[in-house]
Amino acid sequence: MVVRNCTLRGRSGAYTIRFADGRVEEIEEQSGPGTSAVGDSETLDADGALVTEPFVNGHLHLCKVYTLDQLGDSAIAQYHAPGMGGAMTAIEAAAAVKRGYQREKLLPGIRRALELAAANGVSHIRAFADTDTTAGLEGIAAVMEGREEFRHAVTVQAVAFPQDGVVRDPGAAELIRQALEMGADVVGGIPWIELTDADATEHIRLMMDLAGEFDRDVSMLVDDAGDAGLRTLETLAVETHRRGWHHRVTAQHARAMALYPEPYFRKVVGLLKRAGVGVVSDPHTGPLHARVRDLREAGVPVALGQDDITDAYYPFGRNNMLEVAFLAAHLLWMTAAEDMEGLYDMITVDAARVLNLKADQYGLRPGGPADLVIHRHATIREVLRDHSAPAVVIRGGRVIARNGEYLPG
Ligand SMILES: [Zn+2]
Repeated sequence: MVVRNCTLRGRSGAYTIRFADGRVEEIEEQSGPGTSAVGDSETLDADGALVTEPFVNGHLHLCKVYTLDQLGDSAIAQYHAPGMGGAMTAIEAAAAVKRGYQREKLLPGIRRALELAAANGVSHIRAFADTDTTAGLEGIAAVMEGREEFRHAVTVQAVAFPQDGVVRDPGAAELIRQALEMGADVVGGIPWIELTDADATEHIRLMMDLAGEFDRDVSMLVDDAGDAGLRTLETLAVETHRRGWHHRVTAQHARAMALYPEPYFRKVVGLLKRAGVGVVSDPHTGPLHARVRDLREAGVPVALGQDDITDAYYPFGRNNMLEVAFLAAHLLWMTAAEDMEGLYDMITVDAARVLNLKADQYGLRPGGPADLVIHRHATIREVLRDHSAPAVVIRGGRVIARNGEYLPG
């Protein structure tokens, strides 16, 4: 397949992209706007629109999608209250929905969310599934089944996630182990939910032990409440460095960072850089958010995530990372041209860096995978203004979506 008349980021002129064997074979500058088909390859005309890598969603609670109506608004009201003082109460209330978890009941919502991902050009999702004594293994099993069904369209990284704690929820650690044995990709964690600092540290150590034993990456939700005294981001960075797990660990949310005293914030930034820990932020799903601009300026890689789709914590969401970036543009006040480039990086190349995607998995370059999106406009500003689905989504050299419609194999 060949895509002609592409506008590429940071370059002038029009380009032709050639694929072969599921890889980008060549990216070549055109002497002028080409029109004719090349050989007998399938040729697409981008018509001067922006063509980039597909999107990366650094954080999605995939087992919970579309469960809001089962629960009502009690948890949302607590989580979104000013100052985020009720975050722990919200998580406790939201746990009720998991008592009815059954793999077959969860799958229709998971499929719907993954179809949206494909339609919106999302190629990779770090997908959290509650794995605890309430959910059992039903959530992670459903997410892994969705992962296999959509493997041709979206790469789902299934995170075995002890949402209600590890020390607080005796038996959860053993379920995480079983999920890893079943093939979960990533070890999760939420140490700040524990009741003492010592338990939070134990939570991090137990989950990092499993990551070491099973050779897995780690994603933990840290310091996710309106409490400046939370310290689990720091502990995670210190443990990561101590264990040599550099570039394999992400910190999600870290909303209390907005309240840290400045000297402490700067110390944590130094620890994150030393440990190679990136941050995934979801500014649209809570009243506080990580200091995205300051982290980026200090050289800490930052990704954005969808976080939730119509669950106990957030009523909207379409697995559309342009929509997430559009919302973040307002919440972070990133509206200058350079800022918008940064927003786009945080849903593409920077997010890939945070998730430790390798050169053969992600990146629009010769030798990279034959995955890209063709937009309807030539500039990032227009693409963000519209935040509509790409005109064309290509995965593995094949068109898998057009104009927001997923085209199953
Ligand atoms: Zn989350």
